[in-house]
Amino acid sequence: MNAQTPKTDLKNLTQEQLVRFVESLGQPSFRGRQLLAWIYKPGIADFSQMTDLAKEFRAVLARSATMSRFDDYRVECSRDGAVKFAFLLEDGRLIESVLIPEEDRNTLCVSSQVGCAMGCGFCLTGTMGFIRNLSTAEIVNQVCAVRDWTLAHDRGPLTNLVFMGMGEPLANLDHLLDAISIFTEQRGLDFSNRRITVSTCGLVPQMKKLGDLTDVNLAVSLHAANDEVRSRLMPVNNRYPIAELVETCRSYRQKRRKRIMFEYTLLAGINDSDRDAEQLASLLREVPCKINLLAVNPAGNPAFASPSPERILRFQLILRNRGYTVFIRQSRGEDIAAACGQLAGKGWEGTGKEKNGTASGCETGGPSPLTP
Ligand code: SF4
Repeated sequence: MNAQTPKTDLKNLTQEQLVRFVESLGQPSFRGRQLLAWIYKPGIADFSQMTDLAKEFRAVLARSATMSRFDDYRVECSRDGAVKFAFLLEDGRLIESVLIPEEDRNTLCVSSQVGCAMGCGFCLTGTMGFIRNLSTAEIVNQVCAVRDWTLAHDRGPLTNLVFMGMGEPLANLDHLLDAISIFTEQRGLDFSNRRITVSTCGLVPQMKKLGDLTDVNLAVSLHAANDEVRSRLMPVNNRYPIAELVETCRSYRQKRRKRIMFEYTLLAGINDSDRDAEQLASLLREVPCKINLLAVNPAGNPAFASPSPERILRFQLILRNRGYTVFIRQSRGEDIAAACGQLAGKGWEGTGKEKNGTASGCETGGPSPLTP
């Protein structure tokens, strides 16, 4: 390696790629597996701490590789317990992830892109346009940083990952697949496939690949039961219309007993009528699924209004009467712009946000010092 050769960021590499990397350095393949276990141990910051690797090999690694991490980030705590993390990337861009604590789990909403090209009408990330894909390391480092933060703040382990942050994950499929491999590898971050959910706006060819190559859960942002309304809300519907999308879901390769989660954001006067609910029930016939209803957050686009609680319950009832499992999901973190559709990489702005999670509001999970 000469002085000009850039160092390899090991956080970009799956176990298989690490094995090839160490072999290229003249090491036996088991060193790659050993290395993976060290990289994802909490608190390991440099190669000198990898005590069961030979000193000479550690020196070679220090010359040829790095292990990137997110050291510079801001944290904001919501009154409802959600925690938003804003990460500064090497090129000065910002991404956000949101930790959603619940009684029995800690779920992290992970970003996959800076901005998004999909332009869904109710989503602030969409208004940023597409800036770039995140690298595998940038996806993985969100999870490592938040895992370390929850451990340091006595919040218990991170248990679930959902790709519902900034960006369309299936538009960054290669890096997504590598990140999933690192998340699920026992020597890596050791998440079960059952605890990882990838959400898509409906990129049909990539959905098929995801089903063929992984066993993670699939969520589909549907938001309408017919092409006319869906194309208005989600331009992707012009490329992959509803019938094609739902047919892909019907034949989606999943382990037995797994069900696709359909996300349906209710927009008053647009997609929340009894007729819409009936149409949705007919559309999803024979698709093994669950349905999540969520009232729109007008912060994503003030042109939309949230239906009344009665309307939401009525919509749920119609679907339940047709035999569906239907949840009404509460948006979390609205007061810190962390709710669905609100992420726009602005978490660095303003004053007083704690750096790297040291302020008391976040430590206790109580009211954030930033919110009245
Ligand atoms: Fe992109 Fe998802 Fe927002 Fe649509 S909802 S614009 S796919 S981030």
